Amino acid sequence: MTRDYSYTSNSYNALMRCPASLGSKTNIAKPHLDRWIYLKDAIEEWLYNDALDETSINQARSKYANDLDPVQTKICDDLFETFRAIYPKTVGMSMSREYPPLPRSEARDLSEDEKIILSSWVQFEVDYGEKRETIKLRTGKETMDNLDLAILTLQKDTNETNIEINLTRGTVEELPLIDGASAILNDSFEQVEKYLNLKKKETIPGKHCNLCDRPSICGQYREIDGKKISNKDRSLYLTKTDLMKLETCSRQAAWKFLYGIPRDVNEEEVIPNYGDIFHAYTQKIINEFDNPLSSMGVNKFSEIISEESEEIKVKLLETYSSLVEQMSSYNNVQLKATEFPLGFTILSNPPQRKTEDETFDENIAVTFMGMADIVGRINNNTPVVVELKTGKERAIHQHEASLYALGASQATNEKEVVVLHVYMRPGSSKITERLYKEKELNKAKEYFVTKSMEISNWDQKDTLSPSYNPGSWCEYCSYETRCLDSRK
Ligand code: SF4
Ligand code: SF4
Repeated sequence: MTRDYSYTSNSYNALMRCPASLGSKTNIAKPHLDRWIYLKDAIEEWLYNDALDETSINQARSKYANDLDPVQTKICDDLFETFRAIYPKTVGMSMSREYPPLPRSEARDLSEDEKIILSSWVQFEVDYGEKRETIKLRTGKETMDNLDLAILTLQKDTNETNIEINLTRGTVEELPLIDGASAILNDSFEQVEKYLNLKKKETIPGKHCNLCDRPSICGQYREIDGKKISNKDRSLYLTKTDLMKLETCSRQAAWKFLYGIPRDVNEEEVIPNYGDIFHAYTQKIINEFDNPLSSMGVNKFSEIISEESEEIKVKLLETYSSLVEQMSSYNNVQLKATEFPLGFTILSNPPQRKTEDETFDENIAVTFMGMADIVGRINNNTPVVVELKTGKERAIHQHEASLYALGASQATNEKEVVVLHVYMRPGSSKITERLYKEKELNKAKEYFVTKSMEISNWDQKDTLSPSYNPGSWCEYCSYETRCLDSRK
């Protein structure tokens, strides 16, 4: 019997980030992916219909408008309208009758009966007589992956043009033929071969966990009471930032982490602020220098920031010195790692929900995760999590501390954890220490169990099910326009 090992460029990237990310999955809640399929189906319906009038648009639109709530319908309407404007139907254009088109694939034999297949999906093939266009339809803003481009380059026919239609950017672009496509493919085949030969698929956690389908079951963020999570359970994943947002307005948080609603404004590239720059240097010195909190450490710090402007250098050094001063009140400080993922999962069983068509009786596994600035040991070898803040102290940092404390307790199997928030504002630096023993850890757990229940009660198909809560935070919300349009 032959065996094919097939990967798309997405799954290839996932295995490169973390080998454990391609194992068995749970029933992930990803409404934005469902929305993408609805939209693609509507575009397909419209393209394949030879009619050019309004009826063909309405017919296609019913593919999503009958099933999605008003917020998601509006998103699809906008993207569908963009598609029609940038890629109008013309007389003489015809669609390939093969739908969906076969993915473009490259294969390498491993043995007589085993091979690796790497594929790039294309969504439509349009025929213009002598010429053909192969369309990759996208809504993400990031540039096209090199592996995708390499496969499309090698697979291209002479009469064929590969194009990318990006509905978020509103662009139609011919995809370039890239140099070194064969080398990229060879390298990718080798990486897959190595991956297939790994005996134990190791977890490599990081920020990319929020792109993964396995956080509740991969073992990295274990269920807090050791409950077994099955692949029938539904999973959700929240970052520390999502948790903070949840404290002010559920809609704001849920629209980001659950429903993947596009933001009102086009957020172009994020420019690092002072806090990010400070974090980056602090991480560098902790990872590369044995005694980062000694006077030699301060000298080393001033060396590594030498490329910065005078004004920034002074500020960075002042901030780092205040960190060193604050930490000097502790004994046996050993800072071991930076940007360290800490988290856990809570399995909850919300009351049975019913809609007109379906009854939901499922467990929901909610994974909470945060990237701790620094982790290590302190005093009598107690696990410590240090969070560096260049802004002011806020009450919600309490919940961040609780997330880290539970995550660190689970990761180390220790029943006592110290969480330090170090506030390093010029002239008013301070440290807030929270000691979590059994009582505090239990109280923290109660908080997260309550949050999990709240989240589990939302209808994953209805973006309006999480409540909204207007306040001063609306000023910083990415959904203000959409939210105002959807208030009752
Ligand atoms: S959740 Fe993170 S650590 Fe776990 S498998 Fe996915 S990427 Fe790896
Ligand atoms: S605009 Fe305000 S009320 Fe609406 S989602 Fe944003 S934070 Fe919530």
